[in-house]
Amino acid sequence: MITATTVDEVRSFVKKQKSEGKTVGLVPTMGFLHEGHASLVKKSVEMCDVTVVSVFVNPTQFAPNEDFDAYPRDFKRDCALLESCGADLVFHPEASEMYAEDFTTGVTMDVLSKTLCGKTRPIHFNGVCTVVSKLFNIVTPDKAFFGQKDAQQLAIIKRMVRDLNFDIEIVGCPIVREEDGLAKSSRNTYLNADERKAALCLSQSVAIGKKMAEEGVSDTETILAAMRAHIEKEPLAKIDYVEAVDGVTMQPTEKVKDGVLFAMAVYIGKTRLIDNFIV
Ligand code: AMP
Repeated sequence: MITATTVDEVRSFVKKQKSEGKTVGLVPTMGFLHEGHASLVKKSVEMCDVTVVSVFVNPTQFAPNEDFDAYPRDFKRDCALLESCGADLVFHPEASEMYAEDFTTGVTMDVLSKTLCGKTRPIHFNGVCTVVSKLFNIVTPDKAFFGQKDAQQLAIIKRMVRDLNFDIEIVGCPIVREEDGLAKSSRNTYLNADERKAALCLSQSVAIGKKMAEEGVSDTETILAAMRAHIEKEPLAKIDYVEAVDGVTMQPTEKVKDGVLFAMAVYIGKTRLIDNFIV
C-alpha cells in the first residue's frame, strides 16, 4: 500500500491507474479506523480495481467548541488495518496541503443540512461537502463509499453529487455494530466503563423503533415517543434529538413508510453519539 501526503502524488497514482483502464474507489475517513470503516474499504476492493482511502481529520467540519483537537488519531494502526483490507493507497495530507492559508471557497448545502445533526452542528455539513468535493476532485473516483451510520451525511453527499454533476456513484454501506449492538464509532473510545454501558440505550432504542415500525405502527410520533422514553430512563444519557425524516429530503415526516429515517444523537456524558434505522 502506498502512502501519499500530497495532492500531486495522489493525482499521478490515479492517472496511471486510469491509463491502464482501472476503476477507482474512494473511501473518505477521519482515521482511528474500526470495522465499520473496514467494511467500506472491503466493499470498494470488491467493486473497484483500485481503492484509495483518505485519512484526514477535516478542520472545517468542526466548530470551535467541538472535539477537533481531541479527536483520536493513530495513523500507524490505520495503515495496518487498511493494508489488511486490500487498500492500494492511503492519502494522509496535512491540513495545509488541503487548505491554503487564504482558502476562501466552499460548498454549502441548504435544506438537507438544516435538520437532525445540522441543527446542533450548523457549519458541519458545509465542511463535509467542501472536503468531500475536494477529495472527489483530487481522486476522481468512479465510486465513493459512505456508511449508513452517518445517514444524513450519506443523503447530503448523494444530493451534492446530483446537484453538482459529479460523475461518481455513491455506494451506501450498512452500519457495523459491536456484539452488544452499539454502532462502531471512533468516538466510542471517549467512553468510560459506565458510559460504555449507558451507550447501549441508543441501539436499544433503535431496536424498539424498528420493531414498532415492522409491526405496523403508522405514525412516527408514537414510535419516537417510545424511543425517547427508553433513552430517558438512562441517567447518563441526554437526548440531542430523536427524529423521523424523509430519507431523501431530510424533512420531518409524520407517516411511517418505506425510506423514512429514524435518527438520533444522544450525549453520553460529554460524548455525542449517533444511531439510526431506515424503514
Ligand atoms: P468517519 O471516519 O467517522 O468520518 O467515517 C468515515 C466513513 O465511515 C463514513 O462514511 C462513515 O459513515 C463510515 N462509518 C463510520 N462508522 C461506521 C459504522 N459503524 N458502520 C458503517 N460505516 C461506518
